[in-house]
Order: sequence, then C-alpha cells, then structure tokens
Amino acid sequence: MKKYDVAVIGGGFAGAAAAFAAAREGASVIIVDKSNCLGGAAVNALVHPFMRFSAKIDGKEVDLSAGLFTDILQGLAKSGSADRHKFLEEELKFLLNDMAEEYGVDLLFHSYLFKTNVTNGRIDSVSLATRAGVIDLEADLFIDATGDAQLAYLAGCPTVLGRDPDRLCQPMTLCFRLGNVDVERFWKSRPELARAHAESLAAGELINPRENILVFKTPVPNVLHFNTTRVVKKDPTDPVDLTRAEIIARKQVREIYEFMKKHADGLENSFLMMTAPEIGVRESRMIVGEYLLTEKDCLATTKFEDAIAACNYAIDIHNPEGTGTSIYNFEEGTYYTIPYRCLIPKGVSNVLVAGRCISSDHGAQASYRIMPTVCSIGEAAGVAAGIAVKDGVSVREISVKKLQDTLKANNAFIGI
Ligand SMILES: Cc1cc2nc3c(=O)[nH]c(=O)nc-3n(C[C@H](O)[C@H](O)[C@H](O)COP(=O)(O)OP(=O)(O)OC[C@H]3O[C@@H](n4cnc5c(N)ncnc54)[C@H](O)[C@@H]3O)c2cc1C
Repeated sequence: MKKYDVAVIGGGFAGAAAAFAAAREGASVIIVDKSNCLGGAAVNALVHPFMRFSAKIDGKEVDLSAGLFTDILQGLAKSGSADRHKFLEEELKFLLNDMAEEYGVDLLFHSYLFKTNVTNGRIDSVSLATRAGVIDLEADLFIDATGDAQLAYLAGCPTVLGRDPDRLCQPMTLCFRLGNVDVERFWKSRPELARAHAESLAAGELINPRENILVFKTPVPNVLHFNTTRVVKKDPTDPVDLTRAEIIARKQVREIYEFMKKHADGLENSFLMMTAPEIGVRESRMIVGEYLLTEKDCLATTKFEDAIAACNYAIDIHNPEGTGTSIYNFEEGTYYTIPYRCLIPKGVSNVLVAGRCISSDHGAQASYRIMPTVCSIGEAAGVAAGIAVKDGVSVREISVKKLQDTLKANNAFIGI
C-alpha cells in the first residue's frame, strides 16, 4: 500500500470531516473503517436526529457547527432529508462517499485496526486485519476518529474510561425502527402509554431501566425511530461486555415492542423494521491530552484562546447505573468552545484525536459528543493535520492562528 500524508482511522462524522479537511489542505488522505460505509454511529448505530447545534446570538440564530457540517446539511437537503435535524442515513452514506471522491480521499473499508507500530514516540504504521490478511498502512500523521480512542490506546497513550470515581460510562442503546405505524394515532396515545409505562416500571415488571419511551418521527412516512433501550454498567471496550450488551438490548427491544402493542394505538399493522447494525456507544475511552476539557469549563461557557469548535448542546447524562437522565440546558445565546489541545494525545508525536473521545471529563463529553459538534472537531483535526504536513512541523508545533484562520475562511464557527 502507498504511504499517505494522513491516515484517518474511523469514518464517522469526525473522521469523514477530518479527512475532507486534510485533503482540502492538499494532503494525501485515506480513511480506514471496519464497516462498509462512512457515517459511523449515524449509520452503524442508527443514531438520529442531529441534536441542537445553533444559538440565538444578538437576536440571530447562528450555527455553532458550520463549515463542512453545513455542506453535509446542504447535501442532505438536496437528497430530500426532511429538515436540519432529521436525515435519511442511506442518503448520508451516498453523500459522504461522493464527498470523499470530490476531495480525492481514498477509502479502505472492511479493515480493522488492531496494532500500531511505534518508534521513538512516533507511529510509523498501523496494522489492519483484512480479508487479505494483515495490511500495514504507513502515514506521516494519523487521526484517531474511532470513537473509542482505539489508535491512541494501542499506541500506548494514556486514556481514561467513563466517569470519576467508578469509571462507569453512559449506557449503551440499541436503536430500532418500527414500520407501517399509524403515526398520528400512536402520537395521540403517548400520554396513556407513558402512564402505563411508569406503572410497569415502578412495579418492577420491565428489564429495561429507562425512565420513559424515547421515540422520534423520521422523514419516512409511517416509520418511527426508538432510542430507548438502556444497558448499564457494561464496559463498551470489553468484547465480552459488549456482546452481553447486544444480547440484553435485543431482549429489551422485544419487551418494549410487545409492551407498546398492548398500551399504544396505531401499531396494529406495524412490524419491527430493523434494529441498528450495532449497539450505540455514547461514551467509552477518552484520551489524556494536552488539555482536559471539564464540565466546569462548559458550565462557565469558557472561550479558549486555541478554540477550534463551539457547542451549546445540553450536558445530557443518561444514568450509567439505571433509571433517570440528568439534563443541564445552557442559557439561550451562550456556548463554550473546545481547545485544540484536547485533540493532542500525550505519549505520541504524530497523532491527533477527533470525535467523542477527545481529552475531556465525563460531563463535558456528555455535551460535545453530538454529531454536529464532532463533525466540527473533525474538521479542525483535518485542517491541523494538513497544516502540519504543509509546514513540515509536528501537530504540537503548528500555528494555531493559521488553524483558526483557515477554519474561519472555510465558514466554520469557532466562537472567537
Ligand atoms: C444511542 C445513541 C444516541 C445518540 N443520540 C444522538 C442524537 O440524537 N443526536 C446527535 O447528534 N448525537 C447523538 N449521539 C451521539 C453521536 O451519535 C456520537 O457521539 C457521534 O456520532 C460520534 O461520532 P464519531 O465520529 O466520534 O464516532 P463514530 O461515529 O462512532 O465513528 C467511529 C468510526 O470508527 C470505526 N472504527 C472504530 N474502531 C475501529 C477499528 N479498530 N478499526 C477500523 N475502524 C474502526 C467505526 O466503524 C466507526 O465508523 C448518540 C449516540 C448514541 C450511542
């Protein structure tokens, strides 16, 4: 395989944006993913819709995730996705493939990163498990967009799992869709469904500890999206726990569907259309980077000098132990920023991290983890990598001013 300037491991929103941005800066770029498409959790875990990514500033609604995220929204709108928040994941897969082609980004699917080859604190190559056996991929710079900080972890960088002090992560959720639903009648019966659900939960009749039934309309007529299973106290980075989580969540899907058929209207002719290809992981490993973004920073709506992205999505913590969700909503018009230093892992010199596994604590991650924000973080990582390659310097030595100016020139919002 040819050697690349930049190899991005993981093709979710963070990885795709990172790759497009690095290629836009003139770098030769490849995205490696274990699945068969780009989109990450949006397609592999059926995560839907985009959570809030704008703020009313001086009376005007401003997109805090702009830049490449705006381009993606516009592409989705062209293909018929209903609005700024709902989208069709099949269209997202087409769109991201097309964008990769336009930016000249190479793709390598069905390839699983399992090893890094490090010399003197620098990753020379990564080893991928493929149907052709092991492939070693060389690059000058690597971007870890695996969601689980898999590359950083394998390279021996320090990482942390979940919250202090018990290291529990937010629950995992297997999303599912019901088809042929009479949506109007279902929606009208939600109060009665909620009452019955609260009663059964209190009586200890349900295996799913979630406090309510979380359901969304989709752009597809007669199809409902459920983000309502909840698997707690499992480690998403442990394959045995992860398998157990898939099994428990699937039981919960059956339980909820049977329950709703008894207590809601509009499901008489419905069917279970699909469960997500894999269980959704809200939180797992995070790197220990040059700066640790904290919940306190977010609450203080801190604006960092080396800001590369902005966010005001709620600190939305699904109880890692069972029932309940704690939500802190930011005051209208306020937001915090994310510093570039959070993308730089300790322990290696030629790696950046993008997405839900940057350097932060549990509370901060509960906010910036949404798809629009990780897309902005990814774009920043890509621009930084592109600058490092062009200027022949390390990711720690790049001009942050140049990074910020380039992001702004490309219509990103970084809050300063
Ligand atoms: C249940 C659930 C509900 C959520 N709800 C919402 C919501 O309503 N709105 C919202 O905006 N956000 C929501 N989120 C958050 C959001 O979906 C994720 O945090 C975000 O998509 C993460 O993006 P990412 O690019 O960092 O990682 P991912 O999207 O997870 O991408 C990581 C990619 O890396 C690949 N990969 C991983 N390991 C390897 C490896 N070893 N080798 C090769 N490839 C690898 C994976 O296949 C994947 O494509 C939700 C998350 C979950 C789990």
